[in-house]
Amino acid sequence: CGIVGYIGGRSAQDVLISGLAKLEYRGYDSAGVAIMGAEQIEVRKKAGKLANLAGELEITPLPGTLGIGHTRWATHGLPNDTNAHPHATEDGRLVIIHNGIIENYLPLKEALMERGHVFKSQTDSEVLAHLIEEKYELTAGNLAEAVRLALGDVRGAYGIVVTHVDHREIVAARTVSPLVMGVGEGEMFLASDVPALLPYTRQMVFLHDGDMVVLHDDGFTVMDLQGNALHRDIDHIDWDA
Ligand code: GLU
Repeated sequence: CGIVGYIGGRSAQDVLISGLAKLEYRGYDSAGVAIMGAEQIEVRKKAGKLANLAGELEITPLPGTLGIGHTRWATHGLPNDTNAHPHATEDGRLVIIHNGIIENYLPLKEALMERGHVFKSQTDSEVLAHLIEEKYELTAGNLAEAVRLALGDVRGAYGIVVTHVDHREIVAARTVSPLVMGVGEGEMFLASDVPALLPYTRQMVFLHDGDMVVLHDDGFTVMDLQGNALHRDIDHIDWDA
């Protein structure tokens, strides 16, 4: 339902929680974040109000300046802690968040399980983590290419954001589900809707259907799902949410 991503110099946890709070009006049943630590990606997720998660993070904060966050509106799988996003691979090195519905998740899940993948959740979304993990090996560790190839196998609507412990970058893509990027100085933001970003920047890039983007601290690159580089204008938003 709601997505926020951050890479830059600030506390990622603060940007994610404040951004997700701005998206609460859309409705949700659980919330979660993944923050890049020194050696691993830390995931915290909880069913219920964002305040539950925020309260826990206040007591034991997750340090880090790269992170992704989600408020879930369950479509496949009960609204509980396990089914909340983000979803990680078994080794925890790759983490994804997904908005929307993966229509062909069942055959994909069955095939992945036959190849030895162990699923933790009942969501349609978790197939993305395992699929990207396989493509990541296939591409010898090219995260953007792995995401692109995995998306070639799925049908449905998605806004997805992906991080991997070995890359200081966020890879995102959208089909049907909206995603907007915020462009700062030495920092980049991502969200499913503008209000989450307004406190931080007014320089925004509205991603088109079928766009894929790689965010770094100091910039971004957009491509299509065939891997061709694309140009996207930066718009200046001068209205208030
Ligand atoms: N279909 C996914 C799930 O049920 C994503 C739901 C959403 O868009 O929040 O977990």
